[in-house]
Amino acid sequence: MKFTPYWLDTAPQGPDRSRTEIGGHVDVAVIGAGLTGLSAALHLARKGANVHVFEKDTVGFGASGRNGGMATTGLSIGFRDAVARYGFDTAKAYLMTYHDAVDTLEKLVTDEGIDCDFARTGKLNLASKPAHLEGLRKTHEIMSGRLGIETRLIPKSEIHSEIGSDRFHGALVDAKSAGLHVGKFTMGLAEAAARIGVTIHEKAPVEQVSRVDGTRHELVTPRGTVRADQVLVATSGYTSRPFRWHQVRIAPVGSFIIVTEPLGKDVCDTLLPNRRMASNSLNLLNYFRITPDQRLLFGGRARFAMSNQQSDAKSGRILHKAMTQVFPQLTNARVDYCWGGLVDMSMDRMVHAGEQDGLFYSLGYSGHGVQMATHMGKQMAECMNGTPTANPWRELPFRRIPGHFGPPWFLPFAGGYYKFKDLIK
Ligand SMILES: Cc1cc2nc3c(=O)[nH]c(=O)nc-3n(C[C@H](O)[C@H](O)[C@H](O)COP(=O)(O)OP(=O)(O)OC[C@H]3O[C@@H](n4cnc5c(N)ncnc54)[C@H](O)[C@@H]3O)c2cc1C
Repeated sequence: MKFTPYWLDTAPQGPDRSRTEIGGHVDVAVIGAGLTGLSAALHLARKGANVHVFEKDTVGFGASGRNGGMATTGLSIGFRDAVARYGFDTAKAYLMTYHDAVDTLEKLVTDEGIDCDFARTGKLNLASKPAHLEGLRKTHEIMSGRLGIETRLIPKSEIHSEIGSDRFHGALVDAKSAGLHVGKFTMGLAEAAARIGVTIHEKAPVEQVSRVDGTRHELVTPRGTVRADQVLVATSGYTSRPFRWHQVRIAPVGSFIIVTEPLGKDVCDTLLPNRRMASNSLNLLNYFRITPDQRLLFGGRARFAMSNQQSDAKSGRILHKAMTQVFPQLTNARVDYCWGGLVDMSMDRMVHAGEQDGLFYSLGYSGHGVQMATHMGKQMAECMNGTPTANPWRELPFRRIPGHFGPPWFLPFAGGYYKFKDLIK
């Protein structure tokens, strides 16, 4: 079994960018070569800026190369909760931003000719408990009624038209969501950015940041120091000390994934015949899908722990058990890949973007960032170019997580709380 992300292992490798020259002055410095950073760099360069991306590790090393490859519609907190918090009109605007985000991703794939198996196969929300179907029914009524979004409610009696499992009590289908090979997409985005002049520096951790004036900063890396007129912090769940203001507002929560051996088209047709991006309805949910080469990818927040090889292996065993509960027919299927990554949870599980002390940032995707990070890269390019209203999240206050000073000691307690909620509701 490999402990590297399947997506990065099966994507074309980019050139070695760890020996680039770092120094002098740049228009824009982007910190982090994930989807936020690469998309922002590409869109800023299209406007004529001299953009340099600084990446601690390698392109896609963070969540962008480690996720489920699901570009789904829908907020992290669920639409009905959003209405209760923000009122109908604002909640609707936030929800529709996720539809825009999937469109942004699709447009980039088309415009830049990125070969990444993008397909709008739809999303399947599965009711894990009978009472959860009622929740899905209410969501369906709002979506297809007041919002005019095409959704379809699947009763338990018809569930086999969507999934080869008897474990669920019904489902809600949303046709707009997409799946993609996110390794190929991230690498393709880096190539597209480089093609129009973006310089990407790998193995270039930004260790110190000091403000010169306004939005101008000096950035120190072990490979050199640069001055930038503008800086975008795009470090997501991997945010560390030099960006302390952001760090204490984000909980880096481990999420883990296993991928089986290739199962063949016929077997996959029995598991998820419509190739939808699937997830169940628990607080500690599992998500799963078929990969472009006919394997099952199965993920979840198996444990509230950080990701490392030992932790990933433990999570892999928990995920294997969960996978075979959903699909007992896969008991003997070999697991080829197991890995973990960090999700950037904000206090309110909403995206936060803007400018603080002269630093621009976009963070807090809370597990829904494949589409939104890509979209926010584009929107932040507009923002940094003088249009602050391009930031759809500008009204949301970005609150510090109480008691969060650096290492996230509170994760096991949060995990216990959500496990308890899943038991009683
Ligand atoms: C296991 C897992 C499954 C997920 N599944 C899905 C999914 O199916 N659908 C979905 O929509 N979302 C999913 N997500 C979330 C999604 O992947 C992220 O929201 C998104 O990729 C965030 O992109 P980003 O560019 O903001 O951050 P990242 O991709 O995390 O990139 C941040 C980068 O910053 C670099 N960095 C940090 N500090 C520094 C520094 N000081 N100097 C230089 N570089 C630095 C890091 O090395 C990292 O590469 C998942 C996340 C995980 C972990």
